[in-house]
This record gives sequence, C-alpha cells and structure tokens, in this order.
Amino acid sequence: MASDQPSVLLVEDEPAQREVLAYNLEADGFAVTKAGNGEEALMLVDEAAPDIILLDWMLPNVSGIEVCRQLKTRPSTRGVPIIMISARSEEVDRVRGLETGADDYVVKPYSVIELMARVRAQLRRTRPSTVGERLEYEDILLDSETHRVTRDGKLLKLGPTEFRLLSTFMEKPGRVWSREQLLDRVWGRDIYVDTRTVDVHIGRLRKALCQHGGSDPLRTVRGAGYALG
Ligand code: CA
Repeated sequence: MASDQPSVLLVEDEPAQREVLAYNLEADGFAVTKAGNGEEALMLVDEAAPDIILLDWMLPNVSGIEVCRQLKTRPSTRGVPIIMISARSEEVDRVRGLETGADDYVVKPYSVIELMARVRAQLRRTRPSTVGERLEYEDILLDSETHRVTRDGKLLKLGPTEFRLLSTFMEKPGRVWSREQLLDRVWGRDIYVDTRTVDVHIGRLRKALCQHGGSDPLRTVRGAGYALG
C-alpha cells in the first residue's frame, strides 16, 4: 500500500456492522481489508501488516482479546495500533482490553465520527504522513496534505515515488529501512519491483534533496539499507 493511503484491517464477525464500517473507512480514504474471524485476521496480518487494526472483542473461536495479545507480542506487529470494539461496557472489561495492549477501546453502539477521530489520533502518532500532518527533519519540511517539500525554505521538486520515500524516512528519522521494507511501504506488496529499483529512486531522492545545495541527509547502511540522519 502506498504510504499516503492508510491501510486498515477490520475484524468483525457481524457482516452488517463490518460493511457499514468498511464503507465509512473507504469513504475516508482508507484501504480496507476485512476479516470475519480471529484466525483470518492473524493470517492477513502475517501477509502484510496494516497501519491500524479495528478489532471486535467478541469473535467466534479465537477472541479479539487473544488476537490482540498475539499481535502485541510479535515484534513485527507490536507497533501497529489496535482499537478494540466491544458491546461490553463494564469498566473491568475496559481495563482488561487495555491490559492486553490495545491502544484504544470503543464501546458499541459507537458513533462512526468518534471512531474515525480515534483512528486518526492513533495514526497521527504512528503514521503521521497518512493523516495530512507536517513532518520536519532539520531544515526539511514535508506537508503531506499539499505534497509540498521545502528545504531551507526553498521548494523542492520531487517525483511521487521520491515523495513517498521521503515521507517514510521522515516519519522515523534514524530508523534503518531495508530495501524490502521500503518496497513494501512505498511500492506496495502486490507489485513486483526489483530491489535495485529502490537504489535508483534513493539516488533520485538524494539529488532532489540537494537541488538547492545542502548536504546529503540520507545514510547508506552497508548490508542493511538506508536511513535519514
Ligand atoms: Ca462480534
């Protein structure tokens, strides 16, 4: 999935509720993947980790709580925010939900507007470029809403792929990204692209970042990949 369209995994066993929520999420610009039970949800997350997970508490067989617990113990999915959705409303359940590592908790019947606000609040923290936030790194400013990038106040010309690469780096300065991780994040899993393509676009991004001068802020980490700063 391209980094400027957030992906959500929606896990809900009641088809009517699932469809209503999926409709609202899609209308709001999300790429929605749907699962009707816990096993399916765990399998889908293994294939591609979404940006956020909406997880019903009461599911047949593997409960939402168990799915949450499993995802929060795996290093590859620990950082993905999970909003638990439940018909239960007692305080004790709310506490249990948060104890399993859920990042937020919504009680049925919920307002879709409120739920969407909570989804955006989580993404502002974990994937700020998907919710129109401005990202800043040293003298580089990236406005994900207007798609404008400036360095030292001067507008930079960037291609769409270079823009998505830069958004990815600027969300987590210092993090080392492997070529495979960049392919997943910037090009999407379903598209076959050679890892050398990543190097080509990194080269273009470096050139673009220095088009008005300044030093190259990207670092090549031998045998590992690339990092900003
Ligand atoms: Ca349910």
